[in-house]
Amino acid sequence: MSGQVLVEAADAPMEKHAHAVFDLDGDASDAAPMQMRFVDQRTFGGLYLDELTVAHGREVPSTIAHIAPDPLEDAFDAEAVARLMRRKDVAVKRMLLDQGVVSGIGNIYADEALWRSGVHGRRLGSKVTKRQLVDLLTAAQDVMREALAQGGTSFDALYVNVNGASGYFDRSLDAYGQQGKPCRRCGTLIVREQFMNRSSHLCPRCQRRR
Ligand SMILES: [Zn+2]
Repeated sequence: MSGQVLVEAADAPMEKHAHAVFDLDGDASDAAPMQMRFVDQRTFGGLYLDELTVAHGREVPSTIAHIAPDPLEDAFDAEAVARLMRRKDVAVKRMLLDQGVVSGIGNIYADEALWRSGVHGRRLGSKVTKRQLVDLLTAAQDVMREALAQGGTSFDALYVNVNGASGYFDRSLDAYGQQGKPCRRCGTLIVREQFMNRSSHLCPRCQRRR
């Protein structure tokens, strides 16, 4: 998504790049009036009304019905996703980044989750045990929860929290961007490889390709 959605007091100064402003009905009559504002400096964002539909066991806007639940959604079922991944001769990391399998996992979270669970991202889903895949998906959940608690990562300059400030999650990364540094688990140097036109960061000892 481009831009930010802010919820602020109606009398707060208007942002220069506010493109849409909604007055919110408060549930308490004595509460100060609030507004939801869509602010986008780069004007790549959009806002539109959509029908709701049921997909993957939850109600979502119909234009995103093809997108699988992300690991922090109630509808996310690690066992079911692991079963799906086991049926495919596709690299595990590719599936982690595939929104039709699981959404919301970017390159940084994928590398961190793979490192935590000791899985090499190039291994095929069909060659990894279901237990390992569940561990991997659980690790992705943990990484995302920790990142959220800390405000996200600051690697991507466009990734800012709702207040427009970069996060501090990068301080606690174990694999991503750590090439040349010792693995915190075994001391082997973390390496960077090319994968799907991006970089993968991993420990060659903890994450064997086999
Ligand atoms: Zn290691």
